[in-house]
Amino acid sequence: MITKEQYRERMFKMKPNICIGSKMVRRDDPRLIPGLNVLEVTYDLAHDPKWKGLATATSTITGEEISRWAHLPQNPYDLMQKQKLIRLAARRVGGCIQRCMGHDALNALAICTKEIDMAKKTDYHKRFMDYMKIYHQKGWDGCCAQTDSKGDRMKRPSQQDNPDAHVHIVEERKDGIVVSGFKMSITQAAYADEIFVVPTRALMEDDRDFAVAFAVPADCEGLTLVTRPVWLREKDDADCPPYCRYGVSDSVLIFDKVFVPKERVFMCGEWEFGRRVALLFADSHRHSYSGCKPAVSDMLCGVTALAAEANGIQKVAHVREKLTEFASTAELAYAAGIASAVFGEKTASGVFFPNSIYANVGRRMTGELIYHEYNMLTEIAGGISVTMPFKEDFEFGPFKEQLMKFIVRNPKISADDSLKIWRLVENVGASPMASWFEIAGVHGGGSPIMETIALGIEYDYETRKKLGRYLAGISPELDDSADLLREPTFGDGLITERPVSKK
Ligand SMILES: Cc1cc2nc3c(=O)[nH]c(=O)nc-3n(C[C@H](O)[C@H](O)[C@H](O)COP(=O)(O)OP(=O)(O)OC[C@H]3O[C@@H](n4cnc5c(N)ncnc54)[C@H](O)[C@@H]3O)c2cc1C
Repeated sequence: MITKEQYRERMFKMKPNICIGSKMVRRDDPRLIPGLNVLEVTYDLAHDPKWKGLATATSTITGEEISRWAHLPQNPYDLMQKQKLIRLAARRVGGCIQRCMGHDALNALAICTKEIDMAKKTDYHKRFMDYMKIYHQKGWDGCCAQTDSKGDRMKRPSQQDNPDAHVHIVEERKDGIVVSGFKMSITQAAYADEIFVVPTRALMEDDRDFAVAFAVPADCEGLTLVTRPVWLREKDDADCPPYCRYGVSDSVLIFDKVFVPKERVFMCGEWEFGRRVALLFADSHRHSYSGCKPAVSDMLCGVTALAAEANGIQKVAHVREKLTEFASTAELAYAAGIASAVFGEKTASGVFFPNSIYANVGRRMTGELIYHEYNMLTEIAGGISVTMPFKEDFEFGPFKEQLMKFIVRNPKISADDSLKIWRLVENVGASPMASWFEIAGVHGGGSPIMETIALGIEYDYETRKKLGRYLAGISPELDDSADLLREPTFGDGLITERPVSKK
């Protein structure tokens, strides 16, 4: 397992193929550092003995200890550990930990390569597992590029006027393929070792060239990242609070005739599997949300509770009621993740995959509630988050003394702490990061309508209809055994709580 210092060194040595605001920059650009800081937290957690077995796992390929972000889940316990790790890590950075997309892509590729091989007698799975061995040995970190720029949403990839609206194969060679096209909204790509590319949607036979999945180094020849970092107004200086150290960035990826060697190609023209791999990534990612979204609710709940205290209204009934709403959202989403893990299934590849119904209901609920949660913070905090004077006015402005008196509302909270609380309220509730979380909460991992569509297709409505017929007296008997006798997966690595020894 590499350290955060090795990770940073590796990033800074990469080719400067990133464009921000019209200029090419290296990965040590100050606007990318808040994002790198987030990744560094994940390396620190993996090296902290306290989190051994949670932030780390044993590689099924090399037998070595690896970061959990690179581990292919083998059982429900692995999925629950991943979910717990996401909540743990996301709390520490006050939001998105950015590593789950890469992990979700690994799961999707491990499963889908096996299924393509079984149907088509190809050898993608071995190729992928050989690649994974190197991934584990090098301690790489990858992001996932699924979302294509898509062009006209009502047309399929092969019907677009601009073929680059989706990443596609432009040439097939003996030793690999050449690809072109645009991916967009790709989080963490600007400070990842590797980029995994998978299709974004179901495909038809005409879309064969768009049925492509592969891995490339993030600074490979022909690839440019046009990156939008989200950073806070406050600087990462000595007295910068933890929340202001962290940020995120998303990139448009421009693939301009990028050569991908054969050993890194995991799907090449198998259009029938476009939908499958797209959904495998999406469902795995929706399960990841059951760890990260509770962490966002934890953060919003904590900030709201502090704002209430600073306003002296913490005992007021509507405030207490609103705090329970955060608790319900966070823990229902978390519970959906646990249910998704224990009702998951072992796939032919050996990878254990979360139950898609529970993953989708959890993700859908959090996607729909995100603005409500921000609204509760706004209601309780009042309008100060967008009207308070700048930090410098409090620190060394001519009205510093008056402002430090002005900022105190609850006499039990010092001026310094009051200022810190209201700065946090501003940063969490009214900054570019706040907008990012609101929109990520709706669209990241697929908009709520996508979960609605998934539930429309996959949920067992027939059993519910049978219940209706039975209750109406149309059917004399009710057969819902398939639904209710379904067993969760216990054993096989699912560790139950051990009683604490009284000695
Ligand atoms: C902060 C953030 C981070 C992200 N990170 C990543 C990442 O790391 N990797 C990645 O691959 N993606 C990432 N995404 C992309 C995310 O998965 C997409 O935003 C999401 O799937 C929605 O796609 P879109 O943004 O293209 O919206 P659109 O697809 O344009 O959707 C807009 C609306 O149009 C509707 N619509 C679209 N097509 C149709 C149709 N054919 N018929 C009917 N209605 C339609 C949708 O349902 C939706 O209501 C990220 C997004 C955000 C906001």
